[in-house]
Amino acid sequence: MTVSTNAVTMAIANDDEQTLFYQQQANEVALFEHAYQHELPVLIKGPTGCGKTRFVAHMAQKLNKPLYTVSCHDDLTAADLVGRHLIGPQGTYWQDGPLTRAVREGGICYLDEIVEARKDTTVVLHPLADDRRVLPLERTGELLTAAPGFMLVVSYNPGYQNLLKGMKPSTRQRFVALRFEYPGSDVEQQILIKEGGATPHLANKLVELAHALRRLEQNDLDEGASTRLLIYAAKMISSGMHPLDVCRSCLAEPLSDDPQTVAALMDVAKIYF
Ligand code: ADP
Repeated sequence: MTVSTNAVTMAIANDDEQTLFYQQQANEVALFEHAYQHELPVLIKGPTGCGKTRFVAHMAQKLNKPLYTVSCHDDLTAADLVGRHLIGPQGTYWQDGPLTRAVREGGICYLDEIVEARKDTTVVLHPLADDRRVLPLERTGELLTAAPGFMLVVSYNPGYQNLLKGMKPSTRQRFVALRFEYPGSDVEQQILIKEGGATPHLANKLVELAHALRRLEQNDLDEGASTRLLIYAAKMISSGMHPLDVCRSCLAEPLSDDPQTVAALMDVAKIYF
């Protein structure tokens, strides 16, 4: 079951549903399981669209845990995570935020792009992310101890960071940290076949093109082509769109706003399609 409310998505693992497809890249599944057993928080770093969110959703299902996902942004405050007083017909009442719900239920709280959140969020995250495992609810005066099984997972994209937004060492050092890269060729091809409906031949060509585009990343682009974009391209080519039109709309234009760079990316695409 999945429930969405604005930036917050809650997914409850359901035995009737198949576990969400996730193609392992290295030993991340075992690392996550061990961290969970030892009640340690996990930090995942990696470029956009490389599988961080999918991995966490997969692990929540595998471990049969409720998952609360929050996409962090620069207006996100501690109250958005913890909860706030609301006004209803009977007067004011307290409503738990996603972090508090996960803490009470022993679920997983996943904070995506954590470095985007306001700095006041670290005040609530620090005592939860070390061996105290407590969440102070300043507004109600409660000090919640996390239920067994509660796990804090955060992610960010090191490429986006600037000096102000970087994660402080005192925060980073509370987490077991995993670094994700774009999947290796064989793994990425499998993903395109399974998620994008690509033939093995198309999957192979798209992955080769992605590698060529990723090599440009250092010089001309902020980021290389993500696995997510390759899945879009695989879907659109498989349903009959012309491959070069798809390369423009699903790869070149999403990667750059500069017309000259887009033209250069299309020159690379023409080598493959
Ligand atoms: P991120 O959170 O890193 O921005 P996502 O987890 O949303 O990226 O990944 C984007 C899409 O790419 C997913 O919806 C999924 O279809 C696919 N994907 C990426 N990596 C994997 C993987 N290892 N196994 C299965 N699907 C993957």
